[in-house]
Amino acid sequence: MADDRKPAKPPGFETLAIHAGSAPDPSTGARNVPIYQSNSYVFDDVDHAASLFNLQTFGYIYTRIGNPTVSALEEKVAALENGRAGVATSTGHAAQMLAMYILMEPGANFISSTNLYGGSVTQFTHTFAKFGWNCKFVDPGEPENFRDAIDENTKAIFLELLANPGGVIVDLEPVADIAREAGIPLIVDNTTASPYLAQPFDWGADIIIHSMTKFLGGHGNAMGGIVVESGRFDWAQNDKFPSLTQPDPAYHGLTFYETFGDFGFSTKGRAVALRDLGPTLAPMNAYLILTGIETLPLRMERHVQNAQAVAEYLEAHPAVAWVSYAGLKSSPYRELAKKYLPKGPGSLFTFGLKGGYEAGTSLVESVELISHLANLGDTKTLIIHPASTTHRQLTEEQRIAAGAGPDVVRISVGLETIDDIIADLDQALDHAMAKAAE
Ligand SMILES: *Cc1c(COP(=O)(O)O)cnc(C)c1O
Repeated sequence: MADDRKPAKPPGFETLAIHAGSAPDPSTGARNVPIYQSNSYVFDDVDHAASLFNLQTFGYIYTRIGNPTVSALEEKVAALENGRAGVATSTGHAAQMLAMYILMEPGANFISSTNLYGGSVTQFTHTFAKFGWNCKFVDPGEPENFRDAIDENTKAIFLELLANPGGVIVDLEPVADIAREAGIPLIVDNTTASPYLAQPFDWGADIIIHSMTKFLGGHGNAMGGIVVESGRFDWAQNDKFPSLTQPDPAYHGLTFYETFGDFGFSTKGRAVALRDLGPTLAPMNAYLILTGIETLPLRMERHVQNAQAVAEYLEAHPAVAWVSYAGLKSSPYRELAKKYLPKGPGSLFTFGLKGGYEAGTSLVESVELISHLANLGDTKTLIIHPASTTHRQLTEEQRIAAGAGPDVVRISVGLETIDDIIADLDQALDHAMAKAAE
């Protein structure tokens, strides 16, 4: 085609959120991605079946390892993260397990930031230990702490860029340099920022994890997780990753990195980890999350705007001791936020009440519009007292290290009318102050 049109400009984020992975259905023309509620797929013939099973042809066999609705979602999130490929899972925790299953061996370890979602601390400390995978936690405030913790059995660094629960931002670039020098991947849990606010691959991350349960789905109605690979990590640069660089006996001697190159990690995740561990995303949930993502940019914009207003309101309130939101002038993370989260530091943050534990529990019991529950990234404003709930299983020391001390309240600011959110906090804070004065 003779073409004097301008070279194609890459599509913008909003366009990708709507169109990536969501082409019209080739067989019916359905404009919206259908829910392929089918467990299995008919083979053309025996040769076709054999080539599918040998991973020589791309196609669908059985929904545990692949489904067209789930594929559309994987393609969309990989596009939004500017990654090469993704593997969706039933939950965010399953995504973490799947990524680590590929990288770890019994006796191996990974280094993690202490500032994590409480469930991740528990998963890494207790459950992964039963597989012989050890996690060494370091304070991410000083990037060199990651380097100091690395030893010859270290297979990865894991962190949350915008950490749950406390509005802490990790300086990603120097940590990515440390991982690169050690020849290990940097895994970033980008759940609380979402790809709209932060793009960890631009700063040297190699693998991104999401709990799609949160902002990606965005409506509190479907659980899901995903592992996205950048496609830029060289798994063969050392001998640390035999499950990618050595023939796989569970796959008739296939070597995943050699065969699939820049999407070898994802292929291993699908063909072996999903196949054998089974934490598959349901097509219905993939559909709900796909629908949610179409409005991600608009939602995140308003989430950030409302969070800023709530943080400013709380900071000026006499019952509040401190507010940890990187959008405030008082935040030590303001500069890092400008660098890594230029569109705003999310809508999940913590604050402390002068009345301590009692005031915290009284506040969460006094809200009316706001929901007291364990989730985040919903259209609805959500509140929780981590020390008595999400971070309950941790020791007091771990709780404080994770930013979940006794006085801490976590809020996920939603999309209601801002005056209504603030009015509800106002009456609940009055209750909490009265309770603390008793
Ligand atoms: C919720 C969450 C997870 C776990 O995701 P699930 O979908 O609940 O399994 C992991 N990391 C972060 C930051 C989270 O907020």
